[in-house]
Amino acid sequence: MSRSDRKYINEHNAFICEKCGRSVVTAISGTLNRNHCPECLWSRHVDLRTGDRMSVCRGMMEPIGIWVRLDGEWALIHRCVKCGFIRSNRIAGDDNQTRLMHIAVKPVKMFPFPDNTGVYEKIEIIIAEAIK
Ligand SMILES: [Zn+2]
Ligand SMILES: [Zn+2]
Repeated sequence: MSRSDRKYINEHNAFICEKCGRSVVTAISGTLNRNHCPECLWSRHVDLRTGDRMSVCRGMMEPIGIWVRLDGEWALIHRCVKCGFIRSNRIAGDDNQTRLMHIAVKPVKMFPFPDNTGVYEKIEIIIAEAIK
């Protein structure tokens, strides 16, 4: 653990989510950079660089998408509702899996083109089963 990691834990070991009100303790989330609420997945625009808390914006950041990193790990895409800043954040072990799934499948549920094959309908059924 680096010196800057220790500083991060000491100064930011807990916060109250401004979106849903849940109190979030970073120590039990299994990640040093717990930067979003595990329940609603919203974040706050507080960093210029990860963990530095140097941004003056402080706007709420909406989880707008999921992408898959080269190593196969999921990451959340957050967009600041105040200034439009977009950032990718690693997911954590205690993140709400149903909410993650809903974000991940949103593009699949809203195709911008007609489905002539019936494949998408089958995908929708599978997704509905998965996120029950
Ligand atoms: Zn929340
Ligand atoms: Zn912002």
